[in-house]
Amino acid sequence: MSVSDALISVKNLTVRFKTDEGLITAVDDVSFDIAPGEVLGLVGESGSGKSVTAKALMQLNAGNTVYGEESRITLNLDDGPIDILSLRTAKQLNVVRGGAISMIFQEPMASFAPAITIGDQMVEQLLLHSSMDKKQAREFSIEMLDRVGISDAGRRIDQYAFEFSGGMRQRAMIAMALSTKPKLLIADEPTTALDVTIQAQVIELMKDLVDEFGMAILFITHDLGVIAQTADRVAVMYLGRVMETGPVRDVIRTPAHPYTQGLLNALPKLEKLDVALTPVPGDIPSPLERPPGCVFHTRCAKAKPGLCDVEVPVRIPVKDGHEAACLLLETEMEAAS
Ligand code: SF4
Repeated sequence: MSVSDALISVKNLTVRFKTDEGLITAVDDVSFDIAPGEVLGLVGESGSGKSVTAKALMQLNAGNTVYGEESRITLNLDDGPIDILSLRTAKQLNVVRGGAISMIFQEPMASFAPAITIGDQMVEQLLLHSSMDKKQAREFSIEMLDRVGISDAGRRIDQYAFEFSGGMRQRAMIAMALSTKPKLLIADEPTTALDVTIQAQVIELMKDLVDEFGMAILFITHDLGVIAQTADRVAVMYLGRVMETGPVRDVIRTPAHPYTQGLLNALPKLEKLDVALTPVPGDIPSPLERPPGCVFHTRCAKAKPGLCDVEVPVRIPVKDGHEAACLLLETEMEAAS
């Protein structure tokens, strides 16, 4: 996909944070594109840098953030490309934040001000990002709440977030995020806090709305199972780097990277419920102590001393659109052909 075909193109994104202990690298040379209408799953354990990557798309990271010199994030809108990392003023950033890009979070209370009714918050956002007047914005907000399955939306719109159940708040947050018809929706662990039945309903609802509104989604989760149900393509992150990326089916059926293989082995399988799960051994290292060479070598069963702890692997093609970053891959592919 060329930069101009992509709705959003992330190139060589490096994000560091200034701390008392020095500079911490949270995201290291990450590149990916999302096409209009595409769902890209960003998967990894906590500490993998997926949320920091997502927040960079709206410049939502904290004030101590330093972006690498080569980092570029380009959003292609109808009236031309926007270089997101060069935006400075609140007015410039408003085009992106809540306008062309909306974000929904794991905890919907984070999206709603507790002392303002759901309706007033939805209306305010529409007044900022659309040409609707107050009456139209209220009517449209009721329609959106109804659309996400909130019954009696005409009355509920005047309630506060604390008066909604967890599942309803999640739906209201989705309604608010979609009401401005963003080109890209960032969904950061949107179903993790919900019970399994409501989780499935919310995923179905998001898929329906994506079809209806034709928007792209960046879906962030630690759960490859959820990605399998929702995404077209996936990027697997570990300690700030993309280890593997490709069409979801390919990556899940034939994972090429030992880390993705480990994540898939850790998923419960319906036909083998009595077989013990094999999690990836060990913990993700602290970003203050990034391992040299391949950042995964401290947990990788295949790691070769003298190679994997020295050389940094780059992503190489496995097949069409499917790439992985492992130093042994080339030899393994040659042996298999
Ligand atoms: Fe494992 Fe080495 Fe491949 Fe990294 S480069 S994933 S440590 S085999």
